[in-house]
Amino acid sequence: SVARVYADVNERRAKEYWDYEHCTISWGDISNYEIVSKIGRGKYSEVFTGVNVLNNQACVIKVLKPVKLKKIYREIKILKNLTGGPNVVKLYDLIQDKDSKIPALIFEKINNVDFRILYPKFTASDIRFYFTQLLIALDYSHSMGIIHRDVKPQNIMIDPLNKKLKLIDWGLAEFYHPGMDFNVRVASRYHKGPELLVNLQQYDYSLDLWSVGAMIAALIFKKEPFFKGDSNQDQLVKIAQVLGTDDLMAYCRRYSIKLSSEYDDILGQYPRRPWSAFVNNDNRALSTAPHIVSLVDSLLVYDHQERLTAREAMDHPFFKQ
Ligand code: ATP
Repeated sequence: SVARVYADVNERRAKEYWDYEHCTISWGDISNYEIVSKIGRGKYSEVFTGVNVLNNQACVIKVLKPVKLKKIYREIKILKNLTGGPNVVKLYDLIQDKDSKIPALIFEKINNVDFRILYPKFTASDIRFYFTQLLIALDYSHSMGIIHRDVKPQNIMIDPLNKKLKLIDWGLAEFYHPGMDFNVRVASRYHKGPELLVNLQQYDYSLDLWSVGAMIAALIFKKEPFFKGDSNQDQLVKIAQVLGTDDLMAYCRRYSIKLSSEYDDILGQYPRRPWSAFVNNDNRALSTAPHIVSLVDSLLVYDHQERLTAREAMDHPFFKQ
């Protein structure tokens, strides 16, 4: 299957735009940066706050762990293509340690407030504002031929004082090419779309919109994360317990997917649960906000081709208030 939107944007561009395997990197001067403190460690990196000693500007230094050179090139190529775009973290520089050859990426620093503190305080109006910003970033990235593939709260930096949102961590992002088979081992478990879990390799930008749907559902029903599987298989079970088994089977039939036998013993016959079943006294104020459940319902759709696109989601009545 082929993406409903932006299917041929890479094919319309020169090969240099998307051919990350043959890119040459010009490295900046490592002595311009000093590490200030450690802020995080991911699977693929150690992240520090730092300072550019030439202009005293704060920055974030992402020191990459030894991974395939191809993956590093891909992240850099994608960041270079997207930097300066709306709500995309800005890449300032690339440096490399002289001896170890270990590369580090220098980014703008966002004064992020941890989502576990921020999200519980969100009103419908906050959700409207910040998810519009996220959808703007995603529509831009998709229009540039790039799927993020790791949309989750940890990768969305929000500075509530300045009302800024930036999408970070383009380390799993990939160029979309129609008809191409992609790796399904992307995204973090709770935000993986059904296509990844049923091993449908011809997915597209719509993967990111599932992750957005899972995030909004978690927010409005105050259930973080909304689908909490304890393995990849269990993740699909958790989804089927909400969206129902019949529609999952229909999705598989539509794309001629044979479910892995790993599911034989764990996937039951679950009916579709109405969204109203998730409303409780604790979440009522948010979960009954006008049109919000309808938005979740149009994003959390098994069939990736039927999900709202980023552009369509921005046009949803929920955002029109
Ligand atoms: P993961 O394995 O979790 O995907 P990663 O190794 O790919 O992580 P990033 O997600 O890019 O690394 O960064 C790790 C963490 O560092 C982020 O979750 C965030 O808390 C912090 N961080 C990264 N970039 C910035 C930034 N520009 N401004 C502020 N904080 C940042």
